[in-house]
Amino acid sequence: MDWSTTIATQVAQIPRSGIRAFFDLVTGRSDIISLGVGEPDFVTPWNIREAAIYSLERGHTTYTSNYGLESLRRKIVTYVENFFGVSYNPLNEVLVTVGVSEAIDLALRALLNPGDEVLYHEPCYVSYAPSVSMAYGVAVPIATKKSDLFALDPAALEAAITPRTKVLMLNFPTNPTGAVAPVETLEAIARLCIKHDLVVLSDEIYSELRYDDVRHTSIASLPGMRERTLLLHGFSKAFAMTGFRLGYACGPEPLVSAMMKVHQYSMLCAPITSQEAAIEALENGTPAMLEMRESYRMRRNYLVKRLNDMGLDCHLPGGAFYVFPDVSRFSLSSKEFAERLLMEAKVAAVPGDAFGASGEGFLRCCYATAFELIREACDAMERFVDKLQKE
Ligand code: PLP
Repeated sequence: MDWSTTIATQVAQIPRSGIRAFFDLVTGRSDIISLGVGEPDFVTPWNIREAAIYSLERGHTTYTSNYGLESLRRKIVTYVENFFGVSYNPLNEVLVTVGVSEAIDLALRALLNPGDEVLYHEPCYVSYAPSVSMAYGVAVPIATKKSDLFALDPAALEAAITPRTKVLMLNFPTNPTGAVAPVETLEAIARLCIKHDLVVLSDEIYSELRYDDVRHTSIASLPGMRERTLLLHGFSKAFAMTGFRLGYACGPEPLVSAMMKVHQYSMLCAPITSQEAAIEALENGTPAMLEMRESYRMRRNYLVKRLNDMGLDCHLPGGAFYVFPDVSRFSLSSKEFAERLLMEAKVAAVPGDAFGASGEGFLRCCYATAFELIREACDAMERFVDKLQKE
């Protein structure tokens, strides 16, 4: 069989994840310090793991409702109302999914007809463009700038809107830049979405992870936006639960029920063990989450200072657990910089262009890594940068 012509075009065309390609170089190398993978270094808090164990002990090993356990949906609604200030009906406006990843996929498949355009700010999470293509949509990135601290410029958004634009994807705080959008910016974006009748997929997976006095505003909470916004959130980052694979989508009933149609025949439901653990996370997980956040805050401050001190210009990001230093002053592409950093300094970080063309010239360093390792990585990077300066 000729597989090169047999695999579906929209899948065959998808490039390999820049992050994965890079990390294949690192796998199995114990001599390398990784600031690479965007995953908490903390083990899931014990009370949440215990809830998962208890769920199994009680023999809860079945499917759940396609929407997810009603008891979990009720907890989600309360949490979202307190945290984001938006109310949803737990019976038909909340869908529990296998991570935010599945929620993104379902939303795009539920919304897009072939050729519909989806806008998103870039640099962005690596899955956005492929997810749009796999749903037969057209992915349209809008470059953001360091001078705007990587927030989306409403004027650039308006310029990118065409009669085919159907969806805007937002992600604040942002992977890979840690950007947060000021409320005034979100308000201007909201006005444009209303004017041009766009649906917003708002990926707020890092919303708890914001530092100092940075506040989080969900675009869904702004006037006129609840009816056109799907709020995506999950447990992976704030509660250190990546392996539980649990997320959720809250939004208008017609969209949630269209997503449900796809979900019921693809995933059926999210794992019951994870759903029961998630109830514990929402009920009693906040103190542990705040402790992890404080640790991230200290690591962020240290890493940003060290990067600036060694001559790599780096803004202090307001959220998530990434910093995005500018490495463009050396005559190297960000891929070349990252490769040499890996080979010569034994530090792994992701080249900015893995997150889209506008990430070129930058490097993503994840600080969800033990403080001691961050310090060692900074020492090695400093020696590497000194060496580059002398070349
Ligand atoms: N959205 C963003 C912005 C992410 O950075 C990630 C993971 O890195 C995800 C979604 C995927 O999250 P989940 O583990 O809930 O599928």
